[in-house]
Amino acid sequence: MTQRQIEEKINKLKRKIFEIGPLRPGSLSKQYNICGAPGCACKDPEKPKKHGPYFNLSYVHQGKKKTQFIRQNFSKEIERQSKNFKRFKELTQMWITLEIEKSNLIMTTENTRRDAENRKK
Ligand SMILES: [Zn+2]
Repeated sequence: MTQRQIEEKINKLKRKIFEIGPLRPGSLSKQYNICGAPGCACKDPEKPKKHGPYFNLSYVHQGKKKTQFIRQNFSKEIERQSKNFKRFKELTQMWITLEIEKSNLIMTTENTRRDAENRKK
């Protein structure tokens, strides 16, 4: 790729990143529980009706691992936010890859030009 092509790709990525909606890191897990209450439906030997679902969001932020309970009414929205975060991370990784490529290309081009100039002298 030429520097121009790389820059065009970077600009496209930046636009895509800018369009990403609300985001937050984490993965949501769904659980069903059995309680300790005697005779509760969750312990029914035939058709146990477990409690839940309960949603837990686990994530790492600034080096700290956290787990947070999420109410069911927000589970869809939190799922959406964590999908957006994954996309954000993917796009920024692609951006970084292109920036490295561009930086190397600029240095190589500059050095080749200088070497050619020095040979003329
Ligand atoms: Zn129960």
